[in-house]
Amino acid sequence: MRIGVDLGGTNIAVGLVEEDGKIIATGSRPTKPERGYEAIARDIAELSFELLQRMGISVKDVKSMGIGVPGVADNEKGIVIRAVNLFWTKVPLAKEIRKYIDLPIYMENDANVAALAEATFGAGRGSKSSVTITLGTGVGSGFILDGKIYSGAHHFAPEIGHMVIGDNGIRCNCGKIGCFETYASATALIREGKKAAKRNPNTLILKFANGDIEGITAKNVIDAAKQYDEEALKIFEEYVKYLAVGIVNIINLFDPEVIILGGGVANAGDFLLKPLKKEVAENILFKELPYADIRKAELGNDAGIIGAAILS
Ligand SMILES: [Zn+2]
Repeated sequence: MRIGVDLGGTNIAVGLVEEDGKIIATGSRPTKPERGYEAIARDIAELSFELLQRMGISVKDVKSMGIGVPGVADNEKGIVIRAVNLFWTKVPLAKEIRKYIDLPIYMENDANVAALAEATFGAGRGSKSSVTITLGTGVGSGFILDGKIYSGAHHFAPEIGHMVIGDNGIRCNCGKIGCFETYASATALIREGKKAAKRNPNTLILKFANGDIEGITAKNVIDAAKQYDEEALKIFEEYVKYLAVGIVNIINLFDPEVIILGGGVANAGDFLLKPLKKEVAENILFKELPYADIRKAELGNDAGIIGAAILS
């Protein structure tokens, strides 16, 4: 038995996870980061004890606790180096939690943790190398090599979302223009969907958003594209084109066995995967060689807890 913690800016989710990756109990509390890290560490410990008690399990039967953090973490030192949404810099999180619970505590960036879960128990199981790309508000990513997270010499890799891949004039939150996530995130689909609705109020995108431009979602754009709405198709084709540019870059850099797509946009399934695979095939460097299989993630939101639990 292991404890997995998915520490987000909004919620702290804790789960008890069996050796085969099965979650047997979960609990959560609001993070409320303004309380400071001491209160959050205590909540993590309390939630863990609650779950153990509920399931009749002794802490002696727990091997370890792992935490996925929304930022940069130093697993060896047990320190969160930086977590912007929590307002944390150099927080000794492991030491603080160990005041309450006597367990080995591991921590890693949440995108890396999700990638570890997918590589071990999800769409990448059985593979030696995989890259998981999360297409959400931003574009998150994690590299797994031989069952281990590769987070670089300074713990911040991989920041695929901030590879500059074009000149779209869109300024990223990081300050640069043309980052991969300004093309390939759900936010990019929303941004372009809003532009299209202003340009052409007859688009299905706007209809699917019940006429509320500000309420347009990535799903509205995808659903409209599925109905052959011209504006939505144009947006989606551009989206696929640039997502493929990023994926080809990743393949060229890393040549993983599998590329796994997670996050809300990946829920489009084959509607996304089919044209994406075609676009990647047309732009791949070594056309005569095999290359990464591109798959949809399988674990959904559970990846955060499962991946954290199996950290070491
Ligand atoms: Zn950026």
